Amino acid sequence: MKVHEFQAKEIFRQNGIPVPQGQLVQSPEETARLVDQMGGKGVVKAQIYAGGRGKAGGVKVVNGQEEAQAAFRAINGMTLISPQTGPEGRLVKKVMVEETLDIKSEFYLSLLVDRATARLAIMASAAGGMDIEEVAATQPEKIFTAKVDPIIGFSPYLARELAFGLGLDASLSRPFQSLVANLIAVFQKMDASMIEINPLVLTAQGDLFAADAKFTFDDNALFRHKEIAGLADQDEADPLEWEAKQSGLNYIRLDGNIGAMVNGAGLAMATMDLIKQAGAEPANFLDVGGGASKEMIVKAFKIILSDQRVQAILVNIFGGILRCDVLAQGLVEAAREVDLNLPLIIRMSGTNVDQGKQILAESQLAFKVADDMAEAAKLVAAQVGGVS
Ligand code: GDP
Ligand code: MN
Repeated sequence: MKVHEFQAKEIFRQNGIPVPQGQLVQSPEETARLVDQMGGKGVVKAQIYAGGRGKAGGVKVVNGQEEAQAAFRAINGMTLISPQTGPEGRLVKKVMVEETLDIKSEFYLSLLVDRATARLAIMASAAGGMDIEEVAATQPEKIFTAKVDPIIGFSPYLARELAFGLGLDASLSRPFQSLVANLIAVFQKMDASMIEINPLVLTAQGDLFAADAKFTFDDNALFRHKEIAGLADQDEADPLEWEAKQSGLNYIRLDGNIGAMVNGAGLAMATMDLIKQAGAEPANFLDVGGGASKEMIVKAFKIILSDQRVQAILVNIFGGILRCDVLAQGLVEAAREVDLNLPLIIRMSGTNVDQGKQILAESQLAFKVADDMAEAAKLVAAQVGGVS
């Protein structure tokens, strides 16, 4: 799960990582008033989950109230297109204003989980403010990495090593050390999967500030961080993914035109593979879960159908805790409610499969039953012109 820059910075502030003063603003007048309070200068920044805002016109340094108002008007409601937003861009619905920093140099600093070594990795570079993927590709020697031993945790030498790589002055050794220590602590405490500060700014006055902040949390740990889960911004989510999440469904949008409803993540992945093998593309990954209720089946079916791209549906359920008769009832009910007119292929086996088949047969529903998964995938692919 991601959060906005202003939220990430609030977490930084509460955990001893220095950030510029700033807040969200709702109007040109409020922006102007705050810039005035900040001494007549400020930075107006678009708040979207994607980066690359600076080059796309989503970050403006302003002088005086007039510029502040103009910047708010330009950024609020703009469709910001950067390499990270995709070609369709993102509508800006939140704007932040911050005090300006007197920038002397910009660094890159990030923390992430290195799966290969199963350690927290800290990456730093003096090539800050730039696209780090580009630096990694063209000047890999400019990126310094330190790994945190999970038993030992932070030790000062880690920060010293990075500070040396960045060419930081000895006078910055202490503040940099405490910044790194605080970042590691907040990363672990909040079950983050990534923290990125680009740029980490050194001001002319000799202070370090996180001028930008990205924070990604491990979704599987959100159950123990209710306060973080509450920060998710519906405006930034795919509407169907958001709706599915509210109903406890595991739904991910994909690029194809076969709607798929499956129970269990493993079976869902196998089903995706079979659809592709049959020459078609899934429109979604949807795991209704092992113990889905009839209501959840109805909901899942409606979500698949509200995706305009879907041209055929494959239901692949192994009846365990979710019994086949419950599934069949859910399907019949959902199909009635939404007036289903797309080809529907059903493959089910397991608990109460015969009752399930009977419910389907007695309904007015038009569908085909497949006996095994591969056949089901071929049948559904044939509906959209895939190889059959
Ligand atoms: P991003 O483009 O989405 O990564 O947005 P950033 O928050 O990183 O801002 C882009 C760039 O704006 C930074 O690399 C800085 O060069 C510049 N910038 C951000 N804050 C300030 C500031 O307070 N003062 C000045 N002069 N420039 C800033
Ligand atoms: Mn940035």
